[in-house]
Order: sequence, then C-alpha cells, then structure tokens
Amino acid sequence: MSIHSNLKKIKNTINNKVTLVAVSKTKPLEDIKIAYDYGHKDFGENKVQELVKKAQDLPNDINWHMIGHLQRNKVKYIVSFIYLIHSVDSHKLLSEINRQASRIKKIINVLIQVDISEDGSKFGFSETNVINYLENFNIDDYQNVKIKGLMGMASFSYDEELIKKQFTLLNKIYQKFKNRFAFEYLSMGMSGDYKIALNCNSNMIRLGSNIFGKR
Ligand SMILES: *Cc1c(COP(=O)(O)O)cnc(C)c1O
Repeated sequence: MSIHSNLKKIKNTINNKVTLVAVSKTKPLEDIKIAYDYGHKDFGENKVQELVKKAQDLPNDINWHMIGHLQRNKVKYIVSFIYLIHSVDSHKLLSEINRQASRIKKIINVLIQVDISEDGSKFGFSETNVINYLENFNIDDYQNVKIKGLMGMASFSYDEELIKKQFTLLNKIYQKFKNRFAFEYLSMGMSGDYKIALNCNSNMIRLGSNIFGKR
C-alpha cells in the first residue's frame, strides 16, 4: 500500500470535523513530502531533536504536533514553530511553555495529557489530578498558553470494551471542562483503536503505521 492510498482511504472514512494527525516519527523526509504533496498539513512527532530537524527541512506551512513526552529544558527549541503540544503532563511543563512563549510574545496551543490506561505506563495526569488541576486553574495567570483540550492513549490491548471504557472516561472529563476552557480538541485514537475513539467523540486522531507503514 502506498502513503497516498492509505491517506485517501482513511480520509474517506472520517468526517471532516476530525483532524487527522499523520504521525511521521522515525519516517524519512521523503515520506512526509509524499503526504504533504497530497495536501496533508498536520504531522506528529514525539522527539524534539527529530521534530526540529524535520521542521527546518520541510515547508513552513506544516502544522507540527508534538505528541511525545516533552522535557522542560527542550521547550525552548520548539515554541517558535509548534502548532499544538498534545503532551502537557505536569504543571511545571505548562509553566515552562508559558514562560518560553511569553519571551517570544506568542500564545502556544496545548492539550493536557491524561493517563487513562490504568496501568500507569503512560505519561499524563491521573483522572483525579487532572480534574483538580483544571478546576483550580486560573486562565489569567497563564496568558501565553491556551489549553485547547485533552489527549490520551488507551492501553495496548485487544480488549475493545476496555479501550472503549478508557476513551469514554476521557470524553467525560473533556465534556466537564469544555465550556469553561472553550476546548476544541479531544485527541485520542491511534492506528489500532481510532475507530473506537471516534465512537467516543474523538475529533483528533493520531495515526502513524496506518499511513506510513510499520516502524
Ligand atoms: C506513535 C504514536 C502514535 C501513532 O501510533 P500508530 O500506532 O503508529 O498509529 C500516536 N500517538 C502517540 C502519542 C504516539 O507516540
């Protein structure tokens, strides 16, 4: 299967309110170029160094999504160009993004990552912690970040009921805070589970292997 036909097939099955982030981590520039020339603009990476390099070498109208764990000392390398950071997993990280963004007078769009997997293997706030955090969050204190929604990863499991339960939980938290923060994005669903995620109200899916092939 080619990158073209994979993209086309997936785009034909999702509605146009859903943003498809093509996860290009580990894949070469040529692969991204193929998708870009096909008209695709949203790409996801999980490592700062690789992301910075690719962003330098590729057209600057690409929307770059940071989807992997982000260390605070690396925020400064991506604030100038990043489109959306999906992986805000601590208050310290959010503060640092706000600080770096304010230095260059930008507002950075972020998602709060929630660990819905129950096995504690993923980064992110726990359910309890994210609810506390958002309930007490003072938007006026952080003028240079905008919390646009939530991101989560389900367990790696063939148990569809379990995955559905985890995505349902994330959607519940999303709905709880949607109006207060004017949320726009519920980022959940990967190659193996995105259909379940879409049924649970996801409007941003992150697909790698379904588009670019195995890593
Ligand atoms: C790698 C990755 C994806 C894409 O995974 P696939 O299974 O290849 O679709 C999505 N989200 C995150 C956070 C990832 O690290």
